[in-house]
Amino acid sequence: MSTLPTQCTSSLVHSTTTEFSKNNSGDSTILIDLHTHSISSGHGSTDTITHMAKAAAAAGIQVLGISEHGPATAGSVKPSYFRSLKLANRKRFGIHILYGAEVNIISPDGTLDLNDDVLSGLDYALVSIHPPTLTPYEHRDLTQAYVNAMEHPKVTFLGHIDDARFPVDFERLLTIAKEKEVYPEINNGSLMPDAYRVGGQENCRKILKLCKQLELPVLLSSDSHGAKNVGNIKYVLPLLEECNFPEHLIINNQPEFLWKILDH
Ligand SMILES: [Zn+2]
Ligand SMILES: [Zn+2]
Repeated sequence: MSTLPTQCTSSLVHSTTTEFSKNNSGDSTILIDLHTHSISSGHGSTDTITHMAKAAAAAGIQVLGISEHGPATAGSVKPSYFRSLKLANRKRFGIHILYGAEVNIISPDGTLDLNDDVLSGLDYALVSIHPPTLTPYEHRDLTQAYVNAMEHPKVTFLGHIDDARFPVDFERLLTIAKEKEVYPEINNGSLMPDAYRVGGQENCRKILKLCKQLELPVLLSSDSHGAKNVGNIKYVLPLLEECNFPEHLIINNQPEFLWKILDH
């Protein structure tokens, strides 16, 4: 893996006050959004990658990552879909398109629902736990499940670890993530007033405070299903301000830093 710079040198870092551009609805957007789903994930939207790329370009996004759910999610695509992504266009409507996956941890030992062969062909993977795809999970050490999952070099980001239905030891997990150069996300979907995940506000606050202490960069994510919320981090912003979270620890506005992360 690449060496994590102690200080990011992007020209986009101007100050400790984080600034984001706005989309047509007036919502703040980010330059990089890596957690998004198209129709291929099987729920939440009928939008294709073309719809999403168009919306992302209109919102001022420079890098759009498509991260369909792994095959253990009901209705999502099979491994062959992920294999074929190497043939897909990497530039659409003037923006960069990356092809990753939101892989499921399907066993408390950290087993993922895409094998190493498929994962190695992707740009990145977010690793997440979802209710129906991990059983049994009660009274299991889910921190260790994430730690084991991070062993794969393509696992670059931890997906919505804020979900209190799947409790983890944030301090232990994030300390190990720092060693392994894996980055937690702050997921807009976890923070929405009608969020189906549990404890998002409280736990994202804890994650941000720990990341600030550890100097561990975070990835802000829309988790948009379809084009509608691509780049939308409306509910993340108040927490960043409340925690006075340093801009140099936000991956989204620093494309150069992203390329370093993915170049391993
Ligand atoms: Zn998810
Ligand atoms: Zn997702």
